[in-house]
Amino acid sequence: MRSSQSKLHIGIVGGGIAGVALALDLCRHSHLSVQLFESAPAFGEVGAGVSFGANAVRAIAGLGIAEPYRKIADQTQDPWQDIWFEWRRGEDAGYLGASLAEGVGQSSVHRADFLDALASQLPEGIAQFGKRAVSVEQDAEQARVLFTDGTEHRCDLLIAADGIKSSIRDHVLNGLGQPLVAPRFSGTCAYRGMIDSQQLRAAYRARGVDEHLIDVPQMYLGLDAHILTFPVKQGRLINVVAFISDRSRPDPIWPSDSPWVRNASQEEMLSAFNHWGDAARVLLECIPAPTLWALHELEELPGYVHGRVGLIGDAAHAMLPHQGAGAGQGLEDAWLLARLLADPQVLTSQPQEVLAAYDAIRRPRACRVQRTSWEAGELYELRDPAVADDEQLLSKTLAERFDWLWNHDMQSDLKEARAQLGWRASA
Ligand SMILES: Cc1cc2nc3c(=O)[nH]c(=O)nc-3n(C[C@H](O)[C@H](O)[C@H](O)COP(=O)(O)OP(=O)(O)OC[C@H]3O[C@@H](n4cnc5c(N)ncnc54)[C@H](O)[C@@H]3O)c2cc1C
Repeated sequence: MRSSQSKLHIGIVGGGIAGVALALDLCRHSHLSVQLFESAPAFGEVGAGVSFGANAVRAIAGLGIAEPYRKIADQTQDPWQDIWFEWRRGEDAGYLGASLAEGVGQSSVHRADFLDALASQLPEGIAQFGKRAVSVEQDAEQARVLFTDGTEHRCDLLIAADGIKSSIRDHVLNGLGQPLVAPRFSGTCAYRGMIDSQQLRAAYRARGVDEHLIDVPQMYLGLDAHILTFPVKQGRLINVVAFISDRSRPDPIWPSDSPWVRNASQEEMLSAFNHWGDAARVLLECIPAPTLWALHELEELPGYVHGRVGLIGDAAHAMLPHQGAGAGQGLEDAWLLARLLADPQVLTSQPQEVLAAYDAIRRPRACRVQRTSWEAGELYELRDPAVADDEQLLSKTLAERFDWLWNHDMQSDLKEARAQLGWRASA
C-alpha cells in the first residue's frame, strides 16, 4: 500500500484515441502523475470518418470532452436525426429498413479533427514523441518500459494503448501463462475514400439518384460485399467505406510482407461492385484514388491485465468495424479506468487490484462487442446462417440488434468495479 501523500505514476504507451482520451482525463487529478509515450513524431490519425454509438458518446461526455466533440461532430439533420443507418439493397438501393438510436442517431467525426481536439487539450509535458516501446518488465514495486532509443520509464501502472500490433500484449499474455495472440486477417478488405458532398450531389442529380441518400447515413448490402456512407465535416464531406469479403477459406491469410493499407485503383474498386446499382456505383465513381485496407482483428483475449500492466483499446480488443464500435470500446475502457484512478482511494489500494477490477468489468463486454462485430459483417453480407437474404428478417434483425450495445449502463460498471475494490460509495 502507498502513502496517501505520494502521487500514483501512470505511464501510457500509444497516443491514439484510447491513449490520449485516458491521458486527458487522468492529467486533471492532482494525485496522479501521467506520461504518455507515442512512437510517431506527432499525434496523427488517418483522413477518414469515425462514428460513435450512444454508448461512446456518453463515454466522451464522461471523459469531459463533450463540448469539443460537439463542435466538430456531425449529426443527421432533422427529421432523420435518430437514424443510425438506413439499410438498402446494393443492386438497386431498395429500402430495407433503418436502425434508430434515439437522441444520437449517427454521431460521426473526422478522425484527425477528433484526435486534434483531444490532443490540443493535453497540457504541455504529458506527451513525449518518437518513443517506441519495445519491452516491459515489472516487479513488486513498479513497471518499467524500454524504448528503442535506449531510454526507459518507470511507473506504478503502465497502460498499453498501442493498437492492434501492441508491443506490450505479449508481456501481459506471457504473465498470465497464456498463448500469444497475433492479429488475424478477416478475409474482408475495405476501400475507403471521402467525397465532396456538393460533387456527389451533382453526380446523383445527373444520374437521377435520390439526394436523400447523401443526407442520411446509408448502408448498401449485398452478397459478400457492403458499402456504408455518412457525412463528416458538417456535411461537407461524405465518408465512404466499401467492403468486399472472400469467404472461400476458413483461415484467410494476408501475406506477412504485404502492407495492411495500400493505394488502390478506381477500376479495381469498381470491378468489385460490377453488378451494383447507380446509388452505389456513382459513389465509387467519385473516389478517384481509394485506399484499400486489409481488415485484421484479434481473437478474444483471456485477460487484459498482468500485475501493473494493462491493455486498453485495440491493443486489447481490436475488432472488425461493422458496428462502428472499436474506438468507442477504447473510450469505454478509458472512461472506466479513469474513474477508478481518479478516486483518491486508489492511493491506499494496490494498483494491481484496480487494474484487475478494470479487467473483470470491461473484458466480457468488449469481447461481446468483438464477437458481434464479426457477426454483423456476416449479416450485412447475407451470410448469417439464420437470416441469409430473407429481407424481412434482415430488416427486423437490423432494427433491434444494436440496442444492447448502445444502451449499456456504464455507471453500473463503475459501481461493480468499486464494489470489487471494497471502496466507500463516495470518495
Ligand atoms: C475501416 C475502419 C473503420 C472503422 N470505423 C470505426 C467507427 O466508425 N467507429 C469506431 O468506434 N471504430 C471504428 N474503427 C475502429 C477504430 O479505428 C479503432 O478501434 C481505434 O482507432 C483504435 O484506437 P486505439 O487508440 O486503441 O489504437 P490506434 O488508433 O491504433 O493507436 C495506437 C497508437 O499507438 C502508437 N504506437 C503503436 N505502437 C507503439 C509503440 N510500440 N510505442 C509507442 N507508441 C506506439 C501508434 O502510433 C498509435 O498512435 C474502424 C476501423 C477501421 C479499420
